[in-house]
Amino acid sequence: MTRRAVIVLAIFVGSALVAAPPSDGKRWWSYIEFLANDQMKGRDTGSPEHLKAAQYVAEQFRNDGLTAAGIQGFIQPVKFKAWKIVEPQCSIELIRGGKPERLTLGEDAFISRGVEPAESVEAPLVFAGYGLTVPEMKYDDFAGLDVRGKVIVMLGGGPSNIPGPLKAHYQNGLERRRFLARAGVIGTVTIQNPNTADVPWSRTALARFQESMELADPALNPPGSLKMTITVNPAHAAQWLDGSGHTVEELLALATAGKPLPHFPLVPSLRAHAKIQTRELVSQNIVAARPGTDPALKSQYVVLSAHIDHVGVGEPINGDRIYNGAMDNASGVATMLDIARTLHDEKIQTKRALLFVIVTGEEKGLLGSRYFAAHPTVPTKSMVADLNADMFLPLYPLHIVTVYGLKESDLGDTLRKVAQSLDVEVQDDPAPQRNVFIRSDQYSFIRVGVPSLMMDDGFKKGSKEEAIEKEWLKTRYHAPSDDLKQPVDLQAAAQYNRLLMKLAETVADDPAPPEWKPDSFFRRFAN
Ligand SMILES: [Zn+2]
Repeated sequence: MTRRAVIVLAIFVGSALVAAPPSDGKRWWSYIEFLANDQMKGRDTGSPEHLKAAQYVAEQFRNDGLTAAGIQGFIQPVKFKAWKIVEPQCSIELIRGGKPERLTLGEDAFISRGVEPAESVEAPLVFAGYGLTVPEMKYDDFAGLDVRGKVIVMLGGGPSNIPGPLKAHYQNGLERRRFLARAGVIGTVTIQNPNTADVPWSRTALARFQESMELADPALNPPGSLKMTITVNPAHAAQWLDGSGHTVEELLALATAGKPLPHFPLVPSLRAHAKIQTRELVSQNIVAARPGTDPALKSQYVVLSAHIDHVGVGEPINGDRIYNGAMDNASGVATMLDIARTLHDEKIQTKRALLFVIVTGEEKGLLGSRYFAAHPTVPTKSMVADLNADMFLPLYPLHIVTVYGLKESDLGDTLRKVAQSLDVEVQDDPAPQRNVFIRSDQYSFIRVGVPSLMMDDGFKKGSKEEAIEKEWLKTRYHAPSDDLKQPVDLQAAAQYNRLLMKLAETVADDPAPPEWKPDSFFRRFAN
């Protein structure tokens, strides 16, 4: 479809939506129906459908009286370099006593999408525990370990005596790869931990065919030059450890208990070949501003962010190839559109300005938000907070919100007050091992010093709501069934949107901008 035809369609659909009432969640859902229907083909970063979605969002913002705050109107173009694995020409072998043992790709292991793989890698293997360095805790899996020119084998996570936020932060590629480079590691092999993985191996493995991306500007990508990263099926990992005196079961049990892991050389060495196809592409962030009213505060912004990209068309599951991404994250974008509409309809004014930042490339590694943070369209110092919404999962009535970053900044205290006034309970992240606080776009804002938080429709441990969410992650997360046919609680979504809007208003009207807590680990980025 041509660009012009896309815009006409967007205007038509946009005006058809305006009449619906906001309070019952139907208007919110109608935005999702546009963004996540099959014609949108899963809004892959750089795809024509992603562009169509971006233009639709821009059109909604225009209708809501917001001002364009991108580079080309509402749009901020972002350049990417992309690659796709050509698996028939790839191989992973373990060499034991000179003899190759060829692994079955996808079943035993696969070449992961984290780094652009080199054509060939041959190196000794060393088990390096969590492969983690946390300077504040004087924790270093590489201390005294000879890994120069070698490939390390590791498990995700870290020992339980390291606080969650630190552990999460140092597992992020932007940090971890600095230490891998310093230690001279040339590749990593991660054994998936079935006890902490969101999805079963079969779905992890299917994702290897998706296109991987980096920002085109090399200065914005993680440091160092890993030649290859590999992911291993825990059920087929024994081969790697054979002869080392250790078993997968033993190591997984230690990791799950948060205990220290041993370090030891492995008997086989690695020989791997990779063939990739590369291309360059452009995708879109969308940025819209709603002016503030206070002469002293209106030059400051409260950011409301959500990612619009999903993973596109991929390997079929139950005959369906379209990964619609209705909850991930058409839902968060719909929340932003719903809030913008409500602010407009109710003629709500705020002292500070609001900045809606809808980002691309989240699924490729928070790339659109990383680009925006490096090239903000308003001064970094003028952004006083980021409130992010990503897959908040209104699958059941909203009584509790789970908050990521609750104790890190004043935003948590403000949220407590706002939530109380709406009769919603607030709780801290009950599953810090999932690293959610650094797994969505708020992390890009955190890294440039902006206090941030994200919240989800929450549940109590052991409740039926927990079972519903677990089942959702297992069956629908990053699967084609995250589509328009799934059951969603519209009332819960409407409440969530109301709560997030009130929080944004309260932060925007507060005479003092939010601050990181004095003891927050993330405060360092503010200096
Ligand atoms: Zn996702």
